[in-house]
Amino acid sequence: MKLYSQKTIKQIIDAFGFQFSKSLGQNFLTDYNIVRKIVEVADIENKYVLEIGPGIGTLTDEIRKSAKKVVSVEIDNDLIPILFSNFSGIENVKIIHKDFLKINLEKLCNDEFSGEKFSVVSNLPYNITSPVIEKLLKSNTKIEKMTLMVQKEMAMRMLAKVNEKNYSSLSLLVCFYSKAEMKFKVPNTVFIPKPKVDSAVVTMIPELYDETVNRNLLNDLIRAAFNKRRKTILNSLSDIEEKENLKEIFKSLNLNENLRSENLNIDDYINLANEIEKKRQ
Ligand code: SAM
Repeated sequence: MKLYSQKTIKQIIDAFGFQFSKSLGQNFLTDYNIVRKIVEVADIENKYVLEIGPGIGTLTDEIRKSAKKVVSVEIDNDLIPILFSNFSGIENVKIIHKDFLKINLEKLCNDEFSGEKFSVVSNLPYNITSPVIEKLLKSNTKIEKMTLMVQKEMAMRMLAKVNEKNYSSLSLLVCFYSKAEMKFKVPNTVFIPKPKVDSAVVTMIPELYDETVNRNLLNDLIRAAFNKRRKTILNSLSDIEEKENLKEIFKSLNLNENLRSENLNIDDYINLANEIEKKRQ
């Protein structure tokens, strides 16, 4: 079945009385070239694959042709009978009816992939992109590569560099936990229903930027800095550490107290975390 064809999607929707949910970020792919390109970029020949949000299974169907096994996690009750019907009898596809954000990822990987390495491929629901990326990057699993379609603006935030307009806590998270790359842009015309904005496909290969820093402290610093991004970094971090200590640390690191969150790169945040840790010992 051509699950990417508008005609097939409409037939399935009618047959099951399915209605698109905006709050679940449901925009289904309708272009085979894009589906093919995502799977090509993902490079999943004979690999284990985790898919988040299969919809009616358009991407799933292309993934299962080359993957060893694909496990697709879908939250929507109404899509489950459609997915079971589309993949009945196909042995290397497993549908799991759950909220990906609530799933125990470590357990899932042990149960479904025997704890071995796997890749993630997803056309992500736009409303939960950040928490999904955070969950994947911070997970204690053997992710080999992530190939994710996200809104174009989100891709820009993920890949932004220090002092750029889109630089955010997400940029730092992505940079700390992975090597990320923009692969290609996707116009909004290839989805049903058509979203307002274009999308982009980004890959991330997990790789820790620094193994020794206290990651919880680094995380707290970045969060605090970007929560109050209009304030100077010294003021935003004063909830985490005493101002006098911070002043000394800034001086020792040769950092200007009047800088703001967007002016500090990952090394600056790591140095701050290390110095604060030292003061606390
Ligand atoms: N993969 C399909 C495609 O490309 O045509 C659908 C992608 S659509 C952008 C996002 C999918 O994620 C929808 O099927 C939606 O129901 C599902 N979804 C939304 N929130 C979810 C969650 N928390 N856990 C699992 N799936 C979710």
